[in-house]
Amino acid sequence: MLRPNSERLWQEAKQCNCGSGDCSARNHRLCPICNEKMLYGSHFTNEKTRDSKFAWNIDLIVPKQDGGLWKLNNMRAVHIKCNKSRNNKDQSREYEK
Ligand SMILES: [Zn+2]
Ligand SMILES: [Zn+2]
Repeated sequence: MLRPNSERLWQEAKQCNCGSGDCSARNHRLCPICNEKMLYGSHFTNEKTRDSKFAWNIDLIVPKQDGGLWKLNNMRAVHIKCNKSRNNKDQSREYEK
C-alpha cells in the first residue's frame, strides 16, 4: 500500500504513451528528471523491485537543505536512480518511514 500522497503524486506525474499492453495511467508514468518510464509496482517500499531501473520514490522539488518542505506542491514522483543523482535520497527514506 502506498501512502495516499504517494498515490496522488503518482497520478499527477506525466502520462506515459509507450504503447505496451500494460501502459496505463495506473501502471506507467514518466520521470520528470529523465523523461523515462516509471513502473507503479516498483515503488520504493517494494524491496523486490526497488533496485530496478523503473523504481521510483518521492522527491522534494526544492530540497530540504534549501528550505523545501514536505508539502504536496513541493513533492513529485521520480526514479530512485534520478533522485539519488540529486543527492537527496535520504529525504525520501524519511518520508516513507
Ligand atoms: Zn507506457
Ligand atoms: Zn528518471
